[in-house]
Amino acid sequence: MLQDRLANHLKNVITIDVEDWFHVCGCEPETPPDRLPGRVRPNVERILGLLGEFEVAATFFMLGSLAENDPALVPMIAEAGHEIASHGYSHRLLTRLGSDEFKRELQLTGDIIERQSGKRPVGFRAPQWSLKMSDSWAYDILHEEGYLYDSSLNPLPLVGDGSGPRFPFRIRTGKGDVLEIPPMVTTTPAGNLPTGGGWGFRFFPLWMIRSTISRYNLSGAASILYLHPREMEKDGPRLPLPPLRNFATYGTRAEAGGRLRNLLGNFRFQTMEQLVTSWQSA
Ligand SMILES: [Zn+2]
Repeated sequence: MLQDRLANHLKNVITIDVEDWFHVCGCEPETPPDRLPGRVRPNVERILGLLGEFEVAATFFMLGSLAENDPALVPMIAEAGHEIASHGYSHRLLTRLGSDEFKRELQLTGDIIERQSGKRPVGFRAPQWSLKMSDSWAYDILHEEGYLYDSSLNPLPLVGDGSGPRFPFRIRTGKGDVLEIPPMVTTTPAGNLPTGGGWGFRFFPLWMIRSTISRYNLSGAASILYLHPREMEKDGPRLPLPPLRNFATYGTRAEAGGRLRNLLGNFRFQTMEQLVTSWQSA
């Protein structure tokens, strides 16, 4: 079908927020995270295996503290041809950090990633979508620190802004622009649904996710998907969270890997940096 051919022409982006199973904002465990057994490495290896099978390059938003604790992780991802971007250092919400600490975390994580991969990151995603469009101070800092794009504004009710833009746009700072690239959502009369990642990616029917990607592509836009390493491990450990939060964080994890495989086989992908660079040269 012509529509499928048109849709297949456009490249989408898979992003992975590289954090551990206990990095759940607002529900920090009593035991310090660095004393809990980590599960990132085997799950990142699962994701790398799948991406490698389909020869797809993805964008990994790396938590600085995690890269520091496991210095082989970033080189392993970068050597497989993927982009390393920043997910901050501590996984604390931006609202708790304030401007000085945000800048310090950004620089620290940038230094670690540069030391380990040979390249400074140009993309950022805030822990749990905790950046708001009105946080001009944060965009000023991102631009000052050399970031080309941010992917923290989720057009969803509760976790983001349900009426926010669904497609990429420019945020103007005093000194230049930062590109804002929101994750994919499915629009419905009842509001936007999180089909691009998290519990929605694992819960809603696969056809809904696939048709949303096709619709984005037919309208000339790339869809941005997101995944966490903990979603690749069906029986992995869980923090004791309230029931809804537990489901959103850990529920239906068996679905994530199979769905990723299906999408890798049916759509085209590139990294976020490649997407941004293609706009700049267009
Ligand atoms: Zn996160």
